[in-house]
Amino acid sequence: MPARPPRPTRVLVAGAGIAGLAAALDLAEAGLTVELLETAPQAGGRCRSFDDPVTGHRLDNGTHVLLGANPAALDFVRRVGGRFRELPAIYPAVALDGPGGEITSRHEIRLGSPVQLMRSLGLGAGDLLALAGLLLDGRVNGPLGTARPGLLSRKLGQAVLAPLVRAALNIDPAAADARLVARMLRRLALAGPRGFRLHLAEGGLDAALIAPAVARLRALGVCLYPTTPLDRLPPPDPDRMIVLALPPAAAHRLLPNITVPRTSSAILNIHYAPDQLPPGMPEALMVTGGMADWIFHRDGILSITTSAADALMDRPAEALAATGWAEIRTCLAMAGLPAAMPPVRVVKEKRATMRHDPGGEALRPGPVDRTRPRPDVVLAGDWTATGLPATIEGAVVSGRRAAAAVLRRR
Ligand SMILES: Cc1cc2nc3c(=O)[nH]c(=O)nc-3n(C[C@H](O)[C@H](O)[C@H](O)COP(=O)(O)OP(=O)(O)OC[C@H]3O[C@@H](n4cnc5c(N)ncnc54)[C@H](O)[C@@H]3O)c2cc1C
Repeated sequence: MPARPPRPTRVLVAGAGIAGLAAALDLAEAGLTVELLETAPQAGGRCRSFDDPVTGHRLDNGTHVLLGANPAALDFVRRVGGRFRELPAIYPAVALDGPGGEITSRHEIRLGSPVQLMRSLGLGAGDLLALAGLLLDGRVNGPLGTARPGLLSRKLGQAVLAPLVRAALNIDPAAADARLVARMLRRLALAGPRGFRLHLAEGGLDAALIAPAVARLRALGVCLYPTTPLDRLPPPDPDRMIVLALPPAAAHRLLPNITVPRTSSAILNIHYAPDQLPPGMPEALMVTGGMADWIFHRDGILSITTSAADALMDRPAEALAATGWAEIRTCLAMAGLPAAMPPVRVVKEKRATMRHDPGGEALRPGPVDRTRPRPDVVLAGDWTATGLPATIEGAVVSGRRAAAAVLRRR
């Protein structure tokens, strides 16, 4: 009988974003010796907080929202002792007649039950049938606008589908990969009304997630090396596996024979620090028709988030901040906010996520490929083929899958 190859006892994880942290957690809990290399001075990757001298606050690069239908992400938060808070089942929504424009309608989204949700959005049986057609079509493919022409112009498309696809897939809904949209909707449908509930990081991403995750890993004996890029793959070692939890371009530099998504989509966040805010402001408000997709209120900061924001990236920060402030004042008219703009920080993330069009989806690689010249290397990252959009949920799933692939070698 051939001798069983030696089992690895050590793992080098490159990249301390969510995927790398999730992989390291499973591997360390399984008793392996884990080293975690990160090129930045801190962990977190695209999910991070920073001290902003202009507003005087610790801000997140972007307000990160988890959904109730993100079981892996919420479980990761729980395992590391982090704190995301579920928002109420009712939140306001406002439609504007253009960027910085006037209100055309206000309504409340009620997530109590499917019937409540449909009523609060003014949806009818025709909308449900159109949705079921997409959900049940196992062979749907191509861009959503071509695969299901007409769906996005229905009430359902405008009120639910477009905001959801923009937020979760970070792409203009008509260009989104229809198969990925259908898969996401099936998950949401299976999760029930609580699946739509929003969860926000308490005290910001660092306090709520990254610092607790790093502390938990350190307690498990993981060595985290910040400001230490992995520039070259070390030679194969039968005692050690490697998890590359890097952005696609960095992973491709180390493993040139893999395919990686080449295009990305931007997200714009603008954070305002007014002197004072009246009590009772909503924590989340959905906006359609304007520049902002969402207005968030947290810890004295008002923030707007715009997904699929590629067209805004070349606009001057001052102009974006002025439009955003005009929208906040209009949408939160009851707060009586002053016309003068408070201290503000504009965060443009040009490569916020991979672009979830059919071309990008086709290039997402799996974690393990036995034809690769380096079978000791496993891939992770929200851009790998998880079947999920590039989100915290996708990053955690990818990290856990990479860890499982390593543990199967034991
Ligand atoms: C503005 C913004 C808003 C977002 N909003 C949401 C949201 O509301 N909800 C949600 O679920 N998701 C959201 N996301 C997406 C979410 O942040 C990502 O899906 C997730 O953080 C990706 O984690 P990752 O580990 O896959 O990748 P990354 O975070 O990119 O991690 C890769 C890590 O590798 C490091 N690295 C790079 N090169 C090297 C090297 N050579 N050696 C060592 N380390 C290296 C990087 O510094 C980085 O830390 C948002 C993203 C952005 C940018």
